[in-house]
Amino acid sequence: VVTDQTQEILKAYGKIYTLIKIDEISNTGAVRIRLRSLAAAVADRKKRRVLDDIKDAVLQKTSAVVQKAVQKKDAAVQKAVQKKDAAVQKAAAYRKVVFEKFMRKDYTILSPQMSPIHFEFLQAAFETSGYRFEILPSVDHAAVEEGLKYVNNDACYPSILVTGQLIEAIKSGRYDTNKLACIITQTGGGCRASNYISFIRKALKDAGYGHIPVISLSAAGLEKHPGLKITAAMLRRAMRGLVYGDLLNRLLLATRPYEKNPGETEAVLKKWKKIALDNVQHLSLKRFKRSIQDIVDAFEAIPVTGERKPVIGVVGEILVKYHPTANNQIVKVLEDEGAEVRVPDLIDFLLYCAYNTNFKHEKLGRSVWAKIAGNFVIYVIEKYRGQMRKVLKNSKRFSPPSFISEKAKAASEFLSIGNQTGEGWFLTGEMAELIAEGADGIVCVQPFACLPNHIVGKGVIQPIRAKYPDANIVAIDYDPGASEVNQLNRIKLMLSLAHEKIVKAEQQKSLA
Ligand code: SF4
Repeated sequence: VVTDQTQEILKAYGKIYTLIKIDEISNTGAVRIRLRSLAAAVADRKKRRVLDDIKDAVLQKTSAVVQKAVQKKDAAVQKAVQKKDAAVQKAAAYRKVVFEKFMRKDYTILSPQMSPIHFEFLQAAFETSGYRFEILPSVDHAAVEEGLKYVNNDACYPSILVTGQLIEAIKSGRYDTNKLACIITQTGGGCRASNYISFIRKALKDAGYGHIPVISLSAAGLEKHPGLKITAAMLRRAMRGLVYGDLLNRLLLATRPYEKNPGETEAVLKKWKKIALDNVQHLSLKRFKRSIQDIVDAFEAIPVTGERKPVIGVVGEILVKYHPTANNQIVKVLEDEGAEVRVPDLIDFLLYCAYNTNFKHEKLGRSVWAKIAGNFVIYVIEKYRGQMRKVLKNSKRFSPPSFISEKAKAASEFLSIGNQTGEGWFLTGEMAELIAEGADGIVCVQPFACLPNHIVGKGVIQPIRAKYPDANIVAIDYDPGASEVNQLNRIKLMLSLAHEKIVKAEQQKSLA
């Protein structure tokens, strides 16, 4: 984001732009050459400017008439420069097109996909609240290609994917682009998740669709869009939808690998997803609570083999963790290789954001009201998933989610809870918890060029191994150019270690 904007501003002012990338493997020779040529270009400009100054001095001395003429010329030049500056500033700034009230009725709002099972419920929540809302398809490689055309390829993979999905859909001809809006979340934190909106606006402008409004969806209310009104009913629908999404995902992943009759779990999922979608629209608390019990009962009634399969946790950056295109169908890959996959709940991410207010108040001077608000949000969210927690706890085969304070405690053994950029301490907490629960392996999925998650993901593997020498964790980078074969080989190696671990444990058990 910074390099793109810097380049545009410098270009607009006719200045020299040089980008130097520095990382631990950068060839410093190349850096030196670029810096030298930058210095030479600056010196050359300076020299030319000195010559201009000398010329001016000579001119001043020649005659008063000439001097007057020069002053006149200077004033004209100054005026022209000021005019150009104003035009340049206007061109370099992105025009924020606001989503106005009148747009609400006829405009279609496009949202990029992140987690298909959860986002279907969010679509229902928006539609029932009176919006034309469309979540883009879950599996779409053309979106990556499109993203690469408009986003700097040094940006993190999720920003390329999110922008690509929207531009691809807009260009598809399926929509009236004069009645179209896009929506994107803004976390307000330090990573690019706050800047997706700028990437999208730039891409829209470059692709000739600068008139399309991009709505910012953020808890901090970073932008105002009068056409979008988040009502209490809408929030209730969205929250229940997320609870359903987490519950169905948990049950699906814990049952499908063991089903006796192939396809039965998917059929049960399809049936209950339809009912749950209907419940999200109707807002009956009684129906919601009853359905949670019924869903768990339905999955528990599926006949299973009872065999022991390696349990593999998938943790990492939120979009790559849940988006099947971004993670090259990791759940399918692992299940095809004979594993049970555990993907932590999406709601936990919201809880993590709310929990962070505690540290911000205690260590960073944020107001006590922010802390109270954060803890109130946690209380409310936990209320929504209270029934799910209770039913799962009483079930025979499934387990309930842990509390966010427990995750924070697990993470704080390895890093400070002040790590709050990207997934921050939450990612470390997920890994620590999975290991403590006895997971046989963990895949830590991280987008290439994602600085925060490389620190709190890959960066903590060593300290985790120091505490749990058996920890079987593999960190996999995902980006548009990543080799799938390489990813697969690393996953298979981690799986073979998990299988070995199980065999060893069974041998020890039989010897005992
Ligand atoms: S966490 Fe990483 S991948 Fe996700 S938006 Fe931030 S920088 Fe990009």
